Amino acid sequence: MTEAAAPVLADANVRQMLSPFGLDIEYTRAEGNALHYTDEEGREHRVVDFACGFGSLMLGHNNSEIAERAKEILDAKVPVHTQLAQHSHTNDLARALNEIIARELHTDEPYYALFGNSGAEAVEIAIKHAEFDRLQRARELLDGVEDNIAAVRDAVSDGGAQVSPEAYALAGVAGSAGLEDLVAEVRRHNEAAAATPPLFLTIEGSFHGKLASSIQLTYNEMFRLPFKSLSAQARFVPADQPDALAKIVSDERVAVLDLVVEDGVVRVVERDFPVFGAFFLEPIRGEAGIRPLSEEFARTIQQVCAELGCPVVSDEIQCGTGRSGAFFAASHIGLVGDYIILAKSLAGGIAKTGVVLVREGRYRNDFELIHSSTFGKDSFSSLIALKVIEMLEADGGAAYRAAEERGAKLKTMLEAVRADFPDVVKDVRGRGLMLGLEFHDQSEAASEIIREQTQHGYIGFAVAGYLLRKHGIRTFTTASALHTFRFEPSIYLGDEDIAQLETALRAVCGVLRRQDEKGFAVV
Ligand code: PMP
Repeated sequence: MTEAAAPVLADANVRQMLSPFGLDIEYTRAEGNALHYTDEEGREHRVVDFACGFGSLMLGHNNSEIAERAKEILDAKVPVHTQLAQHSHTNDLARALNEIIARELHTDEPYYALFGNSGAEAVEIAIKHAEFDRLQRARELLDGVEDNIAAVRDAVSDGGAQVSPEAYALAGVAGSAGLEDLVAEVRRHNEAAAATPPLFLTIEGSFHGKLASSIQLTYNEMFRLPFKSLSAQARFVPADQPDALAKIVSDERVAVLDLVVEDGVVRVVERDFPVFGAFFLEPIRGEAGIRPLSEEFARTIQQVCAELGCPVVSDEIQCGTGRSGAFFAASHIGLVGDYIILAKSLAGGIAKTGVVLVREGRYRNDFELIHSSTFGKDSFSSLIALKVIEMLEADGGAAYRAAEERGAKLKTMLEAVRADFPDVVKDVRGRGLMLGLEFHDQSEAASEIIREQTQHGYIGFAVAGYLLRKHGIRTFTTASALHTFRFEPSIYLGDEDIAQLETALRAVCGVLRRQDEKGFAVV
């Protein structure tokens, strides 16, 4: 069958959507920070990649050192799939990650590692672990209430205590009722409270994956709403608004009733039921438009969560593994997650892995007996991740310094473009090799084409197609902030690549400033 006649059975719809913008390119070769494609006339074109797997290619496409290591592992016939056996490679990886945690996050508490295959899967593991932990905390709380009920019964039957009228009132029981009515009411109330589904907290704009539970923590409604009924819900907290966080917490708080004896009087007290499963955050929110979390808000979140006994999950899937100029982006803001999640670049752009690291004080090791995956913690991906860490840590962390230095150079250029086109460019944000450039909204543009593409949500694709076809630049907008373009290249980004991007961005700004009739049409 010829290519023209062959049916498209994978991604046909996406391909059709990309086609009008010239984005339906088949890349044929990838190396370092570049991709190559061959056009209809047989000419090969080099494209500078600023999307870089949306963060999975911190060490570039097909990094030769990593590829060599992959070949060695396969040639050595290292066992790859050996469930229910010892996994020293996986353990070495967990230890290597712990050394970096100790150095960058200044804690000597060990973190235990749980492995999956992708970012979203690691988030699902974190959600499951948080729920497993929450239910055990709930059980301990309710068992404590039962112990107290027994103690109160003993005290009342001994004549050592009497039920106070306020206790009946607080529990909503008629004053003339006896202790057993009060106990029944306390139990009824607590059973109802315990049936409250878990609630997760996260920040507006966040992205934590697209699987059944992780999608509930992803802000973008187009992705999330069709699957709302599948799993526990999240409340999205506006960034940098401690009062809004306090209000959400107080609106959602659920109390159980407990009985205590004080000075011979039985009283009813309220105790917080653990309704909050976890607070998920990204130290730099990628899909929200590349927005670093402020140190102050990170501190507020940690304080609020400590009071609630709710774990803080630091999702470093996109911003971690060196991209920010340190291994952990959280290290720049003094944030120490109870859980830390890594994926994407951890497996060097060649293997697939995801890991959740849980600090000892919050780790439930029974979880290991009830959660597993055929491909989680296979030796191949663990050894590749170890190689990635070895490369990042080499020469006293030269790769982190490269991310910082390349990122600073790129950011300086983006700032210069902004300074020359303040009417077109609204903001430049981010750190290291995780940068964003936000254009002003074009919904009211004078050019009909630009206005309509913006109103229909296609302007990002139109600009991406123009950058690709006219300037050999690959980048896209972020998923939940459609006016922000992402720049997440590898550390191998060259000065000439930055110059090529500058020319391209100035051309885009020119089109927007002139409100060019043709807009960004390329096909
Ligand atoms: N969390 C964050 C912060 C991400 O950026 C992503 C991917 N964009 C995910 C989770 C999901 O990772 P994956 O695509 O590997 O499922």
